[in-house]
Amino acid sequence: MTDTVIVLFSRDLRVHDHPALAAACERARHVIPLFVADPAIPSGNRGGFLVECLADLRGSLRERGGELVVRHGDSVAETMRLAEETRAQAVYAGLDVSTFARRRQRRLAEECERLRMDFLVFPGLTVVPPDALRPTGGGDHYRVFTPYLRAWVRQPRREVLKAPGAVHVPGGLRAGKLPEPGREPYELFRGGETVGRRRMEQWLRHCVDDYAEGHDDMAGNRTSRLSPYLRFGCVSPLELEALARDVGDAGAARDVGEIEEEGEGRRGADEFVRQLCWRDFFYQVTRAFPRINRDDYRPRGHEWRDDDHAAQAWKEGMTGVPIVDAGMRQLLTEGWMHNRARLIVGSFLVRRLGVDWRVGADHFFDLLLDGDVANNYGNWQWVAGTGNDTRPNRLVNHIRQAKRYDPDGEYVRRHVPELDAVPTRRIHEPWRLPSGVPGYPAPLVPMG
Ligand SMILES: Cc1cc2nc3c(=O)[nH]c(=O)nc-3n(C[C@H](O)[C@H](O)[C@H](O)COP(=O)(O)OP(=O)(O)OC[C@H]3O[C@@H](n4cnc5c(N)ncnc54)[C@H](O)[C@@H]3O)c2cc1C
Repeated sequence: MTDTVIVLFSRDLRVHDHPALAAACERARHVIPLFVADPAIPSGNRGGFLVECLADLRGSLRERGGELVVRHGDSVAETMRLAEETRAQAVYAGLDVSTFARRRQRRLAEECERLRMDFLVFPGLTVVPPDALRPTGGGDHYRVFTPYLRAWVRQPRREVLKAPGAVHVPGGLRAGKLPEPGREPYELFRGGETVGRRRMEQWLRHCVDDYAEGHDDMAGNRTSRLSPYLRFGCVSPLELEALARDVGDAGAARDVGEIEEEGEGRRGADEFVRQLCWRDFFYQVTRAFPRINRDDYRPRGHEWRDDDHAAQAWKEGMTGVPIVDAGMRQLLTEGWMHNRARLIVGSFLVRRLGVDWRVGADHFFDLLLDGDVANNYGNWQWVAGTGNDTRPNRLVNHIRQAKRYDPDGEYVRRHVPELDAVPTRRIHEPWRLPSGVPGYPAPLVPMG
């Protein structure tokens, strides 16, 4: 048996279904759960959420007799310093795919080798590991979603792991202070595995059946809002998928029993699992194309307009197009935005204003609680037509989308209170807005 193993946490802030932690607890006499607050990864808007995740993780480890050791500085240097201090024999970490994470992983591997320590990387970031599937026709990753989905569904899953019963840390270790939050957490999203698991359980028990019908209803709160918890690994995507499949199976059985026409129970869970596959899809793209946040995945010779004024109006939710402004203001106030709104505001910036997708994507990345390289930039390139969309010239008609997905204008009124008293028909057709709604601008571009 190994004596001491360091488990380096980063965006896997949980004790349930944590392969690196489970392996360390099984193989080593002493385990040191470690988080390094690295100034090279500014947490920005996500800071408050992150600190709550860390506090919760620390609490869960303490309940098991353990501790979350926190250090501040360069993550590799701090990990190796602690390894030398404690004479650890191995460092275990979770796999990640961004350029920064891979550089850190490479440096850790080199340092561990230099000190004759083991360095092991474990799955847990996705349902199916990003390097597990290869297209039959060749290539190192899937470029198109549907064939990926087909292979993904068939791929065997690893076992979902229980939280360890006990975590034995060596004596005499300084726990270290949690990082400063930077900004207060958002009211709607409190960080941590405890809250995340509660949300997951409630979602699966009461809401997922309705997902196929409800996920595009912009005013209804009918998506899981689990993305920040997946982003920080408070919830295991594999466990979430397994539980959703169980709900789907139960729903299918119920649908047959009650002879429901649409088979909602099955459809809701299936559609939800399909979204988790989108998440995995972008991780495997990013693994193969780590510059996804800078370079066009499929360059198409776009010439973007330099228009700071338009970009600023878009960021502030002051374009004069209510459905766009509502989405952008939801982002400002909640640190989250409905998926349909992300598609609408993204395509408005890129297609109607002609502004570079990187401007929008960087803004999203700064503000979103769920902002991560693979999903944010992968989706933005999809919207801009430079990514994985098989119909890169697809146009989103903002007016039609508003009428269809916010038919009563409720989403708009909630986020753009200036329009509270304006009839829905006018909200949907911005060129009909009465001039002089106090404080609300005329549309930035000709509409109609
Ligand atoms: C321009 C743009 C930028 C985006 N940026 C991000 C981002 O930074 N981080 C992020 O997690 N998602 C991003 N998405 C995807 C999607 O909008 C969010 O995952 C979703 O809105 C989160 O809300 P939810 O948890 O209620 O989702 P649900 O509808 O409940 O879906 C469940 C989970 O499936 C995954 N998922 C759903 N849709 C997608 C998708 N299109 N791509 C990848 N995964 C998906 C998410 O993990 C989500 O939590 C972006 C989409 C667009 C169009």
